[in-house]
Amino acid sequence: MSAQIIDGQAIADEIRTNIAAEVARFQAQFGYPPGLGVVLVGDNPASAQYVRMKRRACESAGMKSVGHILPASATQAEVEAAVKALNDDPTIHGILVQLPLPPHIDEPTILSMVSLEKDVDGFHPINIGRLAMKGREPLFTPATPTGCMVLLERMGAQLEGANAVVIGRSNIVGMPVALMLMKANATVTVCHSRTRDLPEIVRRADVVIAAIGRPNYVKGNWLKPGAIVIDVGTNQIDDPTAPRGYRYVGDVEVATAQEVAGAITKVPGGVGPMTITLLMQNTLKSAWRSVGATT
Ligand code: NAP
Repeated sequence: MSAQIIDGQAIADEIRTNIAAEVARFQAQFGYPPGLGVVLVGDNPASAQYVRMKRRACESAGMKSVGHILPASATQAEVEAAVKALNDDPTIHGILVQLPLPPHIDEPTILSMVSLEKDVDGFHPINIGRLAMKGREPLFTPATPTGCMVLLERMGAQLEGANAVVIGRSNIVGMPVALMLMKANATVTVCHSRTRDLPEIVRRADVVIAAIGRPNYVKGNWLKPGAIVIDVGTNQIDDPTAPRGYRYVGDVEVATAQEVAGAITKVPGGVGPMTITLLMQNTLKSAWRSVGATT
């Protein structure tokens, strides 16, 4: 058996084409584009690269992008002032605070300062709280977990009553995707570094979400035949044959997994492109909401 490859890049490209058309419609109607504001603190190269990619993607869809790039020495008050400036700016519809923040910055305070209506990352405690509660809907859901859900939907995955296993329980991926799967009526098991008999648990899963940050950790013989596997992991490994001397692999050992799974995402080209796309979609949604429309 060879698994169907879930092409996140192609799905993301298609959604981005629709976003660009919607952005043009918004601009034509109101005379200004949807705007994303970004706060980046410090000089972590990976964070700077993510921010560049997000801003470039927004701009290529016709959105405005404003950056508050602060040095690692920035004070709590300076970071708070950057968030406040974006909260108060009517041309900004979405605010992204790139994580992690330097250790001396109080991250929970910063995240809860982001205006609920502009929380396109979906990390405000009220949005996460609504996601966790039955009968409540958040204004926004986090981009990477939402990207996983869109990929599952595009695969035609039957989530109702399915056994879903999420490996990883981080605030940005594992926990919110588990909540979203529960909202979709899956029976969800969340695994983490203290879980016993992980392969046994994974073997019962119709849907596996791997978000642990360990290269090639989940093996093909852990999977139930036909399972749908979404690999969120993005791990840099040395590869002297690659042009840059390294390449990226997921948390799932794709060579063995694709012999057993029914469908699987690849790394790169799976969840990664969906993350930025869903951030753009949330910003557009916020812009429409700001003018009293839902689409
Ligand atoms: P994280 O905050 O480090 O969390 C990792 C989670 O995995 C933790 O819950 C940890 O358990 C669990 N874990 C670690 N080792 C484990 C093991 N051996 N067995 C079972 N569980 C284990 O990571 P993250 O931010 O969620 O990111 C996870 C991966 O996704 C990373 O590779 C990251 O680069 C990638 N990522 C990709 C995107 C994208 O857009 N494609 C976006 C975000 C993240 P404990 O809670 O017990 O410590």
